[in-house]
Amino acid sequence: MTDWLIPLSAPSYGHEEDDAVRRVLTSGWLSMGPEVQAFEEEFARFQSSRHAVAVANGTAGLHLALLALGIGPGDEVIQPAMNFVAAANMTAATGATPIFADILGLDEPTIDPACVEGLVTRRTKAVIVMHYGGHLCRTGELLEICRRHRVHLIEDACHAIGASLADGTRAGSGGDIGVFSFFSNKNLATGEGGMVVTACDELGARVRLLRSHGMNSLTWDRHKGHAATYDVLANGYNYRLDEIHGALGRAQLSKLAAGNQKRGSLTRRYWRLLSDLPDWRLPFARLGGDSAFHLLAVVAPDATLRTRAAEFLRGERIQSSFHYPCVPDFSAFARHRSTAVALSQEFAQRVLTLPLYSSMTEGAVDQVVSALRCAATSGKP
Ligand SMILES: *Cc1c(COP(=O)(O)O)cnc(C)c1O
Repeated sequence: MTDWLIPLSAPSYGHEEDDAVRRVLTSGWLSMGPEVQAFEEEFARFQSSRHAVAVANGTAGLHLALLALGIGPGDEVIQPAMNFVAAANMTAATGATPIFADILGLDEPTIDPACVEGLVTRRTKAVIVMHYGGHLCRTGELLEICRRHRVHLIEDACHAIGASLADGTRAGSGGDIGVFSFFSNKNLATGEGGMVVTACDELGARVRLLRSHGMNSLTWDRHKGHAATYDVLANGYNYRLDEIHGALGRAQLSKLAAGNQKRGSLTRRYWRLLSDLPDWRLPFARLGGDSAFHLLAVVAPDATLRTRAAEFLRGERIQSSFHYPCVPDFSAFARHRSTAVALSQEFAQRVLTLPLYSSMTEGAVDQVVSALRCAATSGKP
């Protein structure tokens, strides 16, 4: 493993996480139980959501969200071409067809509502949106389109935990169902983990049922003497979270607001210091609106300069990444390449993501900025 001077991301762990894990080990109960239940209740309160169901990871959450909405073979699910591959993979896992929509532009790389509207057919069952980097997509417009066409809206809110929509609703609670990930590089990190939120009792119950084999009672219920046996009501999965991750999640949730605030101030520092870099673009910098500030993305003048900058940063032991390759360009989606997504492809070739995490210092931001400035201006005539 490369010894980075400045990594792309780093979890912010302290004695709270130590205490949480120790509490579970001491309790002697490791699989889903009181910690997960408390995490769900605290998360639901934080989201102002009726239901929060903890799951093994964000991908499992997306799978359950699609299944709970009854999506399957013959259905179409419109979603961004510029996204992590999980939503598209889980759409395919249900037997439905992912239909890829383009982004609004290089400065606003979230799904284009007009493009979504143009892709709706009789088969469309849902639209999945993603708040790229924690910056909100045009949720209001997209909700209106979904309502008009009577299709469901799923938020892949993995980047946007803690961000609020224009009306104050938390990201993830704007549509029918929202999904979060607690993977190690996310704003709330437990290693693996995720959450599904919904205001709908039926969807909440369905997600809960499918999370654990379709069984109508849990091991914990039987341990507590609440149930002696069980029935299997549907063909479900084991997508449960365990107590160690649940306890870690509770500790991380209590730090989330402060962490997001810090990420915001670091982001504004990046934007201010990079604003005069000729021909480089700073997505979302001029849009306003709330954000969870998950990723710091810049767009290079072209693909060659993007790759050259990443190599230069690597030489300075500064980690960077490309979020994301364009999903329909992956081999596994070759047969779903049905729509034009030129802007997503352009963005995928030119985007560079820079270090951003809540324990990052302003000095580290300044180091990344001067290295990028150096890379961007070297070799210029
Ligand atoms: C991280 C992430 C996922 C997948 O979450 P896992 O917990 O890793 O399964 C899905 N969508 C987006 C946008 C993500 O960033």
